[in-house]
Amino acid sequence: MVLKDPVGPVAAFTPGTSRSTVVVRKVGAALAAGCSMLVKAPEETPAGPAALVKAFADAGLPPGVLGLVYGDPAEISSYLIPHPVIRKITFTGSTPVGKQLAALAGKHMKRVTMELGGHAPVIIAEDADIALAVKSAGAAKFRNAGQVCISPTRFLVHESIRNDFAQALAKYATGLKVGDGLAEGTQMGPLANPRRLTAMTEFHEDAVKHGAQVLAGGKRIGDAGNFWEPTVLMDVPLEAKVFNDEPFGPVAAIRAFNTLDEAIAEANRLSFGLAGYAFTKSLKNADLLSRKVEVGMLWINMPAMPSAEMPFGGIKDSGYGSEGGPEALEAYLNARSVAVMNV
Ligand code: NAD
Repeated sequence: MVLKDPVGPVAAFTPGTSRSTVVVRKVGAALAAGCSMLVKAPEETPAGPAALVKAFADAGLPPGVLGLVYGDPAEISSYLIPHPVIRKITFTGSTPVGKQLAALAGKHMKRVTMELGGHAPVIIAEDADIALAVKSAGAAKFRNAGQVCISPTRFLVHESIRNDFAQALAKYATGLKVGDGLAEGTQMGPLANPRRLTAMTEFHEDAVKHGAQVLAGGKRIGDAGNFWEPTVLMDVPLEAKVFNDEPFGPVAAIRAFNTLDEAIAEANRLSFGLAGYAFTKSLKNADLLSRKVEVGMLWINMPAMPSAEMPFGGIKDSGYGSEGGPEALEAYLNARSVAVMNV
């Protein structure tokens, strides 16, 4: 027989940009599998995780099952990961930090789930519905000002429709109402902190230096808050930083391709493999892309729709392990085989 036991107490590390969503994915699966969890939530956005953990306490979760800690991230991880009581580490955040924590966990033989950064390709084939691609990929791109791990970032558009698509996306971006996220009618809010503003300036200046054309946006809005214009760049060279490092901001970088094989090769060029998108009316293309694009999640002719029933996670440098579907529970269980001979 196979016995499945909870792996044991878990240390969870979560990023600031997804606040409670990432915490709830981890807590839900861990508690369902019978594991307790200590969450190291982000110091920059502490209120959401705190309210969530309080809700569990108010609902009667026994003391000691779910804890929350804030402080110096490196100090906390270097204490918790080697600690003999902790049996599993789950981390959501950037690839460089994920690699550090996975290395430490490996040294202490701890089970690990890593949900890391991405650089999502969007392949817009010759036969794509352009209006659908602009609406779906545009909404996904500028959601949370692009500060989403599965945000579309590299727009690969067939040469024959590149101008139509790029102009329509630029019009969409220019029409977005940017402002206070709590104000009526706001469609895009600010960046999370001033560091992201500096990063966006660097991405933008570098792309322009490499010859990219600016079709929309490209600068900070005003001088209060961390607002960056929804930006669309066209004919972005592969060497530009924005086509290589995760932008994590409201910039859509567009390049044209001639054959689908070329687009697939570009989609797979980077070490990331989290999310991908494609737009095509052909099921043959959809089948080819499903098999060939190296990502943990691919959405075709639709915006990203992570669901509780489907595995959510990346491959390659975007991490390993899943936080949805039955796979999420398996991540918190040890399987043990027991064979009994009747004597
Ligand atoms: P980050 O890696 O800088 O930080 C993530 C969390 O880890 C934060 O709470 C931070 O305080 C903590 N941290 C940093 N150094 C640490 C250390 N040495 N030990 C322990 N904890 C440490 O990432 P970020 O800027 O907060 O988030 C953005 C990144 O997260 C992007 O790369 C994004 O793609 C990724 N992300 C991935 C997913 C996913 O599901 N794959 C979801 C959301 C965000």
